[in-house]
Amino acid sequence: MTGYITLDCQKCGGSLEISDEFEIYSCPYCGMQYLVQSSEKGITIRKLDERVSKVENEQTEIKINLLASDLEQIRSKINEVFSNLALKDDYQNHS
Ligand SMILES: [Zn+2]
Repeated sequence: MTGYITLDCQKCGGSLEISDEFEIYSCPYCGMQYLVQSSEKGITIRKLDERVSKVENEQTEIKINLLASDLEQIRSKINEVFSNLALKDDYQNHS
């Protein structure tokens, strides 16, 4: 059975026509995502924003970790280059 409900978006107030054909419905106005669950009693929706923002946080943490290890590599590269330069300068000064 296919049914639909109309309601206002909990974020922007736009009118939504949510069909139980979809598991996830996003508001056409603001992109707010809802989890659609249909049962004998009808259609219920749940906001997805909490789960989405948690995933974003995890991704941000991973990015920060990656950046930190990149910085460590860059720092050791810089040290290497500087020590090579220092050796060169010494050589040129003394020749
Ligand atoms: Zn909306």
